Amino acid sequence: MQSPLYIAYGQDIRAMTRSVLDAARLEERIPSKTALIGIKPNLVVAKPASLGATTHPEMVAALVEYLQEKGFANLMILEGSWVGDSTRRAFRACGYEDIARTYGVELFDTKGDRPVRRECDGMSIEVCSRALDVDFLINLPVMKGHCQTKITGALKNMKGLISDAEKRRFHTLGLHRPIAALNKLLRCHFVLVDGICGDLDFEEGGNPVPMNRIIGGFDAVLVDAYLACSMGYAPDEIGYIVHAARLGVGSMDVSNANIVELNHDETPFRPTPSRRVRQLAGHIDAKDACSACYANLIHALARLDDEQGLPRDMMVRIGQGYRGEDGRGPGIGRCTAGLCPSLSGCPPRADAILRFLRENLR
Ligand code: SF4
Repeated sequence: MQSPLYIAYGQDIRAMTRSVLDAARLEERIPSKTALIGIKPNLVVAKPASLGATTHPEMVAALVEYLQEKGFANLMILEGSWVGDSTRRAFRACGYEDIARTYGVELFDTKGDRPVRRECDGMSIEVCSRALDVDFLINLPVMKGHCQTKITGALKNMKGLISDAEKRRFHTLGLHRPIAALNKLLRCHFVLVDGICGDLDFEEGGNPVPMNRIIGGFDAVLVDAYLACSMGYAPDEIGYIVHAARLGVGSMDVSNANIVELNHDETPFRPTPSRRVRQLAGHIDAKDACSACYANLIHALARLDDEQGLPRDMMVRIGQGYRGEDGRGPGIGRCTAGLCPSLSGCPPRADAILRFLRENLR
């Protein structure tokens, strides 16, 4: 049986993180109180989390508080920013130096670490030795788009645990197979996804979409397969998910996943200054739309725009203000049940919205 995925919605990052950790009963999975626990955020660039590229420090602070409260004292935050940025700068700019000071947790820059060669899937891969010392690895990726791999989530976030030279070499190998192999060699034991405001298209941020969710799970492949669906892709469109499942890293069977939504959040969507998001939002007629629902629609429209372009006069209706109204759709979510056509769900996922819009644009 697949392990569940836990989802908390809202804007109180600390409380949402805590509710996912409590629901997952994370402490019971950690082998001993003296285990070296590695915490791997996504600090790809030295930019604050509000720009959609990096992991919110409040999530890491809440995780550290949880672990220390449960008696785990051997904690380390480890990361290596992308080629061309300094991890030290990212630790400072993203608020991680404050976390280290407040909680007495070591910050480890993997860029200077000794590489250790390992074999997997016919490839020889160099992994940072400090990452191999970790007994229990907690991966905190950002749910966001990527210009080459379509999405980036848990599996790709592990690239921060290899050297810059190896990161460059991964690109020459086509990214997908080596990312999957890296995850076979270096297993993460728990994933806590920052789905607060990840970028629509780019791992370096700039087009943040307020999604207001945190997702937890023990199976990194399943987590990424779910993220793919939540951004309007089928899991088998993402090469590294397919390869990781083939290597036995986890399951990509989202249709049979046990998805536990811990709450329902009706926080209204707040528009972002991103030009791309504003352009897509021009096709949405929203009345009191919840942010989770609206964000899923933005992702679906972005996919549709990439596929075939959006008809200039296309207008999609969404939000609680449509409750009890009838009239012309397309409407998204159960609040628009009186419109024709309308897609059910609360909130419907981006992949379902995309299928619905494709069918109703014919
Ligand atoms: S269907 Fe309505 S209540 Fe449900 S998430 Fe969408 S806007 Fe909110």
